[in-house]
Amino acid sequence: MTTFLSTGTLPDHYEQLAKTVRDFAQSVVAPVSAKHDEEHSFPYEVVAGMADMGLFGLPFPEEYGGMGGDYFALCLALEELGKVDQSVAITLEAGVSLGAMPVYRFGNEEQKQEWLPLLASGKALGAFGLTEASGGSDAGATKTTAKLDDGHWVINGSKQFITNSGTDITKLVTVTAVTGDNNGKKEISSILVPVPTEGFTAEPAYNKVGWNASDTHPLSFDDVRVPQENLLGERGRGYANFLRILDEGRIAIAALSVGAAQGCVDESVKYSKEREAFGRAIGTNQAIAFKIARMETRAHVARAAYYDAAALMLSGKPFKKQAAIAKLIASEAAMDNARDATQIFGGYGFMNEYSVARHYRDSKILEIGEGTTEVQLMLIGRELGL
Ligand SMILES: Cc1cc2nc3c(=O)[nH]c(=O)nc-3n(C[C@H](O)[C@H](O)[C@H](O)COP(=O)(O)OP(=O)(O)OC[C@H]3O[C@@H](n4cnc5c(N)ncnc54)[C@H](O)[C@@H]3O)c2cc1C
Repeated sequence: MTTFLSTGTLPDHYEQLAKTVRDFAQSVVAPVSAKHDEEHSFPYEVVAGMADMGLFGLPFPEEYGGMGGDYFALCLALEELGKVDQSVAITLEAGVSLGAMPVYRFGNEEQKQEWLPLLASGKALGAFGLTEASGGSDAGATKTTAKLDDGHWVINGSKQFITNSGTDITKLVTVTAVTGDNNGKKEISSILVPVPTEGFTAEPAYNKVGWNASDTHPLSFDDVRVPQENLLGERGRGYANFLRILDEGRIAIAALSVGAAQGCVDESVKYSKEREAFGRAIGTNQAIAFKIARMETRAHVARAAYYDAAALMLSGKPFKKQAAIAKLIASEAAMDNARDATQIFGGYGFMNEYSVARHYRDSKILEIGEGTTEVQLMLIGRELGL
């Protein structure tokens, strides 16, 4: 397996995948992005297209219905989709990295056989419910409970801001819940909740600032009964296992962010060659060219950071610090580039139908979801022994 990943020298199979997804993003995603954003509608037809291409199965072995690729392949796909439409990219990211990956990493053989072929096919989506109203950064503050009763877990509580949890094709929500007390410390486990299950409700979708075509709901659990066998991984390891999933997920979010940052560069280069002011293209002004050069630099450096974290992960080495660094700088690159691109587009940059305006609204959440900027700094500091 190749673990040396450098921008510009990717092995052919990765290049080929990136090109295929780039073509799909341009021909299928881009034409409907503004419409779904405006209508806050879930892009079922685009998701079906991604499913047909096998994108939901990218990092899973063929024996579980996957494509036999790896996590870096998923990242490349997310980067290409993120250039064009962050809602579509996060739908894939959450479906694979948060929805299906916990089953692959921590499930027993029966659970893998039951869920992975379905989730890897993209015909069904899984969601990951960690965050609660009481806190996302302090996710160990979980209040949702699961108690054993007659061979079943009975789950009560609620989750907040859960991606892909209320679509017509959502079939699984994996949640953390307090399952007991371990010498005064909460015992947190993760449990598979098939959708639908009586007592489980995806409440009405949020009205968000961005990622309008991505599906996000509060969830409530009212005496939800699932078989005892739906425990995912070891009892009491739920929180630790979810943190491992988030470490990986940060590389994926970094890749998506790099896509957004690069999308802003590409749009700005095009626009600044076409748009004229004072009798010449605005890009001939060094003030504009320098701004775009800085944007390109941010995207490039952030890409190198996520390639580095992915290379460590693929070679089985510790990657927590590098994943946090990649997520931190890539999400900031996306936000900074979106702000600069909007400035370059002038008044048009403030019109919702322009993709830079969408990136401007969409990019903010990249600095919040799957660990805020401050949480990344905490993790990096901890890795330095601080
Ligand atoms: C669109 C969207 C989709 C999401 N999808 C999912 C999902 O699928 N599954 C899921 O489980 N969650 C999901 N989330 C939740 C997301 O992960 C959390 O919102 C995020 O982790 C932050 O948690 P919080 O909102 O509770 O903010 P808080 O944790 O309340 O943080 C508030 C502020 O305080 C800062 N802060 C907190 N603690 C410290 C500290 N010790 N030092 C310095 N600063 C600190 C934070 O950085 C932040 O700026 C989603 C959120 C959104 C908006």
